[in-house]
Amino acid sequence: MKPLLQKTCDIAVDFLESLPGREVGRPVDYSTLLATMGGNLPQNGEDPLHVIEHLAKTTASALVASPGPRYFGFVIGGSVPAALAVDWLTSTWDQNAVLFVSSPAAAAAEEISRRWVLNLLGLPVEMTAGFTTGATMANFTALAAARHAMLKQVNWDVEEHGLFNAPEIAVITSAESHVTIFASLQMLGLGRSRIIKIATDGQGRMRPDALRHALADLRGPLIVCAQAGNVNTGAFDPVDEIAPIVRDHGGWLHVDGAFGAWAAVSPRYCHLTRGMELADSITLDSHKWLNVPYDSGLVLVRNAEAHHQAMTLNAPYYVVSNDVARDNTDWVPESSRRARGFTVYAALRSLGRSGVTSMVERCCQFAQRMADRLSQHPRVQILNEVVLNQVLVRFQPPSGTSSDAFTADVIRRVQEDGTCWAGGTTWHEMRALRIAVSNWSTTEADIDSSADAILRCAFGQC
Ligand SMILES: *Cc1c(COP(=O)(O)O)cnc(C)c1O
Repeated sequence: MKPLLQKTCDIAVDFLESLPGREVGRPVDYSTLLATMGGNLPQNGEDPLHVIEHLAKTTASALVASPGPRYFGFVIGGSVPAALAVDWLTSTWDQNAVLFVSSPAAAAAEEISRRWVLNLLGLPVEMTAGFTTGATMANFTALAAARHAMLKQVNWDVEEHGLFNAPEIAVITSAESHVTIFASLQMLGLGRSRIIKIATDGQGRMRPDALRHALADLRGPLIVCAQAGNVNTGAFDPVDEIAPIVRDHGGWLHVDGAFGAWAAVSPRYCHLTRGMELADSITLDSHKWLNVPYDSGLVLVRNAEAHHQAMTLNAPYYVVSNDVARDNTDWVPESSRRARGFTVYAALRSLGRSGVTSMVERCCQFAQRMADRLSQHPRVQILNEVVLNQVLVRFQPPSGTSSDAFTADVIRRVQEDGTCWAGGTTWHEMRALRIAVSNWSTTEADIDSSADAILRCAFGQC
């Protein structure tokens, strides 16, 4: 084992050390990649050392430097060193985090992480936590708990009887809810096209007056999905105004805060998350702004019974431990599963409250710096109020062509240039470059060189 793992460590260190300097994305020929990495299934096994070296060599130019400091696509986040190291140990220990009896350590890691996250974000201590693959399954789990609780109010046991002949649940989202909210509702039998979508304001925030209007004639079971952190603008729905409206209607309020909810840690930005502590359920991604390796989502639920009933497996051979110890499977859709608590524990322990706070604040300040530098050019327009870590940039062409076409062209050139990587989006009918700053290792110099590269790709000088 030792030579194999030491070689693996060398390869890993080489990769990490290459990150600050390497091109972020490179064009890849997919069929060549399939041929060089793959080929035919070997009849006889190969030496593990050879397998590792072959894989490292053939993937080298096809890896994206997304854990690196100048990757601004989607909202990705890197891996803080302690979390990366503990991720290796998680694989090495190979614990099945399903039950307390299958890994007391994995149960404790999730329980400690649950307490620390609630403390960090100022949320009610009694909230239950499920450690999911990502925010998609966190949304799914939260909405399954909501479905349980809302139908129980009208004496319908949805886990036993399903949705056939069940009383209807009114489901309300914002017009700009994340796509995974709709995917979760679709998987839960709540449908996509029957959802009521509430109008948003100029920054993509749900309008409380429009919500109040939509609820005026609604009676019966109700689920409302708000969000903390719009994936385009970074704006937050006014949860402090939305929560009392939902409560007056006896509804369930879910807040998708995959990346934005982490802003609650910062005295400078926590005003954005005001009211989040009133939510019935909250989604977070540790693999985004906490900079834990994939896969690491988190669902927090206030009603433990609903959370548990929606997720429990109820199989006779599952020896449920006891009332004191945690069975991780009780709070997530899966049975056998990776011990996700260890990496969250490691990130929180190594950063501490002050480390998470400064990581979040640094990213926000860098987003503002990026916006300031880009907007010095007269033909650059920043489309959003930069309230968090997201910047939407639109480029005006020298003449003739449309801004949409020109911006799309700039996005392509930025991605090919390789200095940094950012994606495209269409926001309120406008094509835009979308920049998300969410990596612990990004420096001011990375922001400046990336801004220069973007301007150079757009206008040919900087
Ligand atoms: C990223 C994101 C999701 C989906 O998260 P995954 O971890 O990719 O499943 C959901 N909601 C919001 C607001 C997000 O930013």
